[in-house]
Amino acid sequence: MEIPTHDLNDGRALPAIGFGTYPLEGDEGITAIASAIGVGYRLLDTAVNYGNETEVGEAIRRAGVPREELVVCSKIPGRDHGYDDAIRSTHGSLERLGLDHLDLHLVHWPNPDRGRYADAWRALVDLQKEGLVRSIGVSNFTGDHLRRIIDETGVTPAVNQIELHPYFPQVEMRAVNAELGIRTESWSPLGKRQAPFTEPPVAAAAEAHGVQPGQVILRWQVQLGAVPIPKSATPSRQLENLDVFGFELTDDEMAAITALGRPAGRLFGGDPESHEEM
Ligand code: NAP
Repeated sequence: MEIPTHDLNDGRALPAIGFGTYPLEGDEGITAIASAIGVGYRLLDTAVNYGNETEVGEAIRRAGVPREELVVCSKIPGRDHGYDDAIRSTHGSLERLGLDHLDLHLVHWPNPDRGRYADAWRALVDLQKEGLVRSIGVSNFTGDHLRRIIDETGVTPAVNQIELHPYFPQVEMRAVNAELGIRTESWSPLGKRQAPFTEPPVAAAAEAHGVQPGQVILRWQVQLGAVPIPKSATPSRQLENLDVFGFELTDDEMAAITALGRPAGRLFGGDPESHEEM
């Protein structure tokens, strides 16, 4: 299956959909991740805190797809926000993955009360210059966090990975990212366990286009210009989730799904201003 790509602000390309690997672990995790690569995913999302970088590396080797076709993304945890710690953390990720570079590396959460995310960002800027990391970005950053790191380094993240699903459509953050030239990636893009598969606008669009509700939600993500990274351990769902480029939602269908959003729609209250994740 041919997956379209987006051009990032650093001249590199990002697949329009990726594969989320949390909480895939162990042999079953390796099998599921290798299956995802086999059905066509080329963007793989992992993190130090998922504890599965070793499994992701093994799945890559097992799948046998040329390395240059893959976009492997990991993330620096809050406890590694100091400049030297962030460099060390990245070397650890590469070692566990068994790779000589990451294609995308993110600051996982800003943890603003700790006040060190700008040091982690400076480390990513230098790691990119060194070639150990191809594209650099952030996750769960607000407009204030973004403007601070851009002001301090002159370097704009290529990606901001944020919680984004129909119950939390992130209208404002998507606009901030777009204004700054940052590509939005969507975590928990289906809404995880609260996936709004039976909500009338989702069910009606699925019926109208002859597709599954999950495909409607992922197509909504694609048409928003956001890059969803759905996780599934099930090969048939992995394939189904990838198959969202053969139909188009109408403007009314798009608007009706976005209107499912609600202020308290976050899955676990992960407000980047207050959520601490080390
Ligand atoms: P998600 O992708 O929205 O949902 C995953 C759940 O939906 C799984 O239980 C999966 O079950 C099920 N599912 C998948 N496809 C389906 C389909 N077609 N029909 C019905 N059910 C389906 O949520 P997520 O795993 O929380 O998020 C995805 C990725 O985002 C994570 O894996 C991780 O890489 C990333 N993430 C990042 C952050 C961050 O702070 N940056 C936070 C959370 C997550 P089965 O596996 O049984 O198919």
